Amino acid sequence: MINASLIAKLKETTCKYENEMVSLLSKLVSIPSVSGEEAEMQKAVFQLFSSLKGETTKIPMRESLREDPKYASGVNSAFEDRPQTRFFWKGKGGGKSLILCAHTDVVPAGNWKEAFKPKIEGDLLFGRGAVDDKGSIVSIYYALKALQEMNIELEGDVEVHLTNEEEVGMAGALALVREGFKADGVLVAEPTDHQIFDAGRGCLQFMIEIKGKQSHLGKKRYGVSAIEKASKIIESLVQYEDHLIDIGRGYPHFENYKYPGQVNIGKIHGGSFFSIVPDNVVLEGGVGFLPNKELEEIETDLKKIIFENEDEWIKNNTKIYFEGLKNEPYAMPDNHPFTLSLKNTLESLGRKTDVLGMMASCDARYYYNQGNMPSIVYGGINNGQSHAENEHVYLPDILETAVEYACFIINWCKKYN
Ligand SMILES: [Zn+2]
Repeated sequence: MINASLIAKLKETTCKYENEMVSLLSKLVSIPSVSGEEAEMQKAVFQLFSSLKGETTKIPMRESLREDPKYASGVNSAFEDRPQTRFFWKGKGGGKSLILCAHTDVVPAGNWKEAFKPKIEGDLLFGRGAVDDKGSIVSIYYALKALQEMNIELEGDVEVHLTNEEEVGMAGALALVREGFKADGVLVAEPTDHQIFDAGRGCLQFMIEIKGKQSHLGKKRYGVSAIEKASKIIESLVQYEDHLIDIGRGYPHFENYKYPGQVNIGKIHGGSFFSIVPDNVVLEGGVGFLPNKELEEIETDLKKIIFENEDEWIKNNTKIYFEGLKNEPYAMPDNHPFTLSLKNTLESLGRKTDVLGMMASCDARYYYNQGNMPSIVYGGINNGQSHAENEHVYLPDILETAVEYACFIINWCKKYN
């Protein structure tokens, strides 16, 4: 296990990067790398990691990925011109290998006009992606830079995957897993408030289309209001959410969550005029669920709500589509050596961490479910900032997280006799 003087030296080394770190993060935040538009950001991180000792390569996303049964994407962007960045630092041999992964894409700015104009106020840097996930990329970079500057030699190989499309279905991570990159453990760097997540909930996107029958307001009861039918379906969906919460309570990894299941209608549109009985409503939403359910089961449950509805009209005039996000849940075995290695590393740095399930999906699920690699999620302070308007990161935490990553890399990839 790493000793106190090495920890002190790592802290001293990373401290020197403070100013350079702030300008690097500002530069990355100023690139509007919304999912599907990561090309410029990928160029920037390719150049960044090329400055380290190791091999930095561009890994194209292949068109054949779209035929993969596990492929899902919430964007329809061409793969050309936005290859993903892979950095590889070969060890001397005989140690365990590690993949560190972080995503280059961000969610859209929404109404936030200054989202891609980074602003610094005291110890905070504001901008879309400052926390999620560009802060994590910067922490990984400085962890490696410090190790290399200190001439620390590792026995195991370390590689970094900088992915596309994490926010919209994680096709980038799937592409890298399908390329066959393997390691003894994968640490997905996301802002987790310094908690370790060794499981992740699943998420299924859906769209429900309800047909009605138009008529004049004066003949209301001769028509069929799609809006009234939709409200019945919404009621059933809320009941289904209650059911998911009931069966999720106390489920391993997720015991701390009061509401371990979600059904959200995020968008609704329908009708055309106040005095016309509406003949069309579209509901768009998502289901969040624990690993006690499979993705296909959720699909079946939702279909049942529609096609076994006691309302004959709903049964015969409603369609449900599952396009977009199809995030499977995942869960590591309890007390896995990889998880414990990170937990012990953090403890040696004086940080007590919880190990729990993540109420969100991220790249880790593909590395675990499809790549068969132990995968956990860990990173710095989030404080509710991911995807928030005025997203900001607490700058001193970036280098503190870099020290934690560096210590973990040593503990995992170095062979102690
Ligand atoms: Zn993220």
